[in-house]
Amino acid sequence: MSRVLVLNSGSSSVKYRLFDGAATVAKGLVERIGESGGEVADHRAALQGIMDEIDLEGLAAVGHRVVHGGAEFTGPTVIDDAVVARVEALVPLAPLHNPAALTGIEVARKLLPDVPQVAVFDTAFHATIPPEGVTWAIDKSLAERWQIRRYGFHGTSHAYVSRRTAQLLGRDPAETNVITLHLGNGASACAVEGGRSVATSMGMSPLPGLVMGTRSGDIDPTVIFHLHRVAGLPLDEIENSLTRHGGLQGMTGVNDLRSVLERRTAGDPDATLAFDVYCRRIREYVGAYLAVLGRVDAITFTAGVGENSPVVRAASLSGLDPLGISVDPERNERRDEVISPHGARIPVCVVPTDEELEIADQSRTALSLSR
Ligand code: ADP
Repeated sequence: MSRVLVLNSGSSSVKYRLFDGAATVAKGLVERIGESGGEVADHRAALQGIMDEIDLEGLAAVGHRVVHGGAEFTGPTVIDDAVVARVEALVPLAPLHNPAALTGIEVARKLLPDVPQVAVFDTAFHATIPPEGVTWAIDKSLAERWQIRRYGFHGTSHAYVSRRTAQLLGRDPAETNVITLHLGNGASACAVEGGRSVATSMGMSPLPGLVMGTRSGDIDPTVIFHLHRVAGLPLDEIENSLTRHGGLQGMTGVNDLRSVLERRTAGDPDATLAFDVYCRRIREYVGAYLAVLGRVDAITFTAGVGENSPVVRAASLSGLDPLGISVDPERNERRDEVISPHGARIPVCVVPTDEELEIADQSRTALSLSR
């Protein structure tokens, strides 16, 4: 039996979960690290507190969530000094995300020098997307020099959820095509062909694609030139606007979909439009990925919104009956595992995601440990 500690280090928080096999034996969240009124001064203190709290007996691995693995990390990777240096070299690609993971790795390696550590990248699952799905039609020399291409994110979630969907339907994951819709604060769609990602909606960063809590999702890049040249906004401000004041937040002033739904029910026009934009974008990606995959065996909703909002699930797939896609109102309200009507051509599923469990399992795989 091998215990695995999974760490998800953000810029001001650390989430942890300790697994014994597939069972969670401890979990928690340290927030507001380094902020006034926060619990602890820095990541070292946060991780030290976590180590003191949990029973480290039999700990076989630490699995770190790392957002950006660039083009080179295509699977879970056992961490050594060279791997740390390569992740550091990727910071320019993910300045908002990778530094925190690096801090978590550095501190955990110091505190637990004898425990092997594994990096599990959000991008890795998408390494199987073919070149035509990751290449943008821009100047080739610029793209190569600056590593500009689609990488995609939420990979551990899309991998886990697509596999569970196949199992739920009694199918072999290697022969099942699934469109997965991860709708949380961040949101992305993925086309999975026989267990391999072949298309996804996020890009070089987690900004494009679906409408999110505070991120805009897809926009015409000209918007940025316009805001810079005509409106006179500095680039940092534009980035901040699109990443923190876009999406539902930008359109309605609130980022939590539950609040948007309440306002919509009360007749608020901004909330009504935001809901429509949100659901239409999902439908557009479903249509695109039907075309990418050709044959689709299931469509699966997951994460906070996907698992909990029947109204989003129904609205996102409305009008698709001619394509063999529909949602049964009662099953949808009850949140059955399969929410499409009996005998539907393309089953629609709800599968709770579990990124930490997937990170623990991938960490074991990287170290050839059994559960
Ligand atoms: P994260 O991406 O931070 O992991 P989650 O997957 O937990 O986020 O999703 C968080 C979002 O899920 C919340 O912002 C909220 O909008 C949405 N959500 C949670 N419960 C519900 C619900 N019952 N109805 C609609 N939306 C919900």
